Amino acid sequence: MRNRGPRLFALALAVILLSGCRARGPGWAGQVPLAKAEKTEFMMDTVITITAYGPKAAEAVNNAMAEMRRIAALMNADDPKSEVSRINQNAGKRPVRVSEDTFRLLKLAQRYSELSGGAFDVTVRPLVVLWGIGKKDKYVPDAAAIERARALVNWRDLILDEKARTVYLRRPGMGIDLGGAAKGYAADRAREVLLEHGVRSALIDAGGNIWALGRRPDGEPWRIGIRNPRPEHGGELLAVVPSEDLTLVTSGDYERYFIRDGVRYHHIFDPRTGRPARSTISATIIGRNSAEADILSTALFVLGPEQGLALIRKLGNLEAVVVTPEERIVSTSNLEDKLEIVRQEGGTGDKGR
Ligand code: ADP
Ligand code: MG
Repeated sequence: MRNRGPRLFALALAVILLSGCRARGPGWAGQVPLAKAEKTEFMMDTVITITAYGPKAAEAVNNAMAEMRRIAALMNADDPKSEVSRINQNAGKRPVRVSEDTFRLLKLAQRYSELSGGAFDVTVRPLVVLWGIGKKDKYVPDAAAIERARALVNWRDLILDEKARTVYLRRPGMGIDLGGAAKGYAADRAREVLLEHGVRSALIDAGGNIWALGRRPDGEPWRIGIRNPRPEHGGELLAVVPSEDLTLVTSGDYERYFIRDGVRYHHIFDPRTGRPARSTISATIIGRNSAEADILSTALFVLGPEQGLALIRKLGNLEAVVVTPEERIVSTSNLEDKLEIVRQEGGTGDKGR
């Protein structure tokens, strides 16, 4: 980005998956055909598909899916019996001992809450509940209610005790929400399970969270498509990222939203305003840790292109693509050479070079 200026396109992004191995048929690695296994389930408010190749692919996929289910159950803030709910129910009362998984992810989430200056804030639950995006019918809270909820959001009041492995929210009414991190963490866990089963070629697709493990069975890199979240303004597909051992995570304003009086209200909040974040319509992170990429895609979405990409560059080892409200795309410089552009709208793309 520094030398050539930001890359600008007219379309917005969403990660989608292009099915691999068209030409040679499924399960062909050199001379040895590999068994393929695939499973789809609905959890964490999204459709999850795991596809794996290898001798133990079927068992691997079953166990990886079970692992994702386990993580989803621990971290589901809408289930009063989950670990996260127990933390929330005990806000302002007492610390709660949790599993290693929940503790580890909360630690990561708190670290990035700090690094992002609170743009990502893992204690965002009061805002999530108040707005009820996707649950309440086109509800826009009044300013006083937003202010009350916003005042309860602060990652500094989340107390993690490493030794006791306990979690404590300092004030009553506070709440943890791992909606912006749990899918990525679950995908990381699923990947570990696949690797333990000797799988070297697989795709985990958890909505906007994708893990491309190894290469396709035909030896080519996986091809992850980047899709237009405003298809009404142009084509479905914008670009393809050839991916080998990479995770891609997108946060967008088009997954859970409603439109009232011409205004789009969606599920990613700016903790500074207590309202849906406005400086981005899509944010993609490419990295090697899906929990981190998930958290950072939400942070980048809230921070917007300038501050957000500055943070990503500072962290290093990550690539990112942001789409502004004007539907211009800005990416980190390394990505410019990797993205295969398949469509630009009306020749307006690529202006910034
Ligand atoms: P998606 O859930 O569509 O994959 P994200 O990863 O960006 O998208 O997560 C959005 C979810 O994260 C919301 O549904 C909510 O649970 C939570 N969330 C919303 N705003 C924030 C924020 N500023 N910081 C942390 N989590 C947030
Ligand atoms: Mg996220």
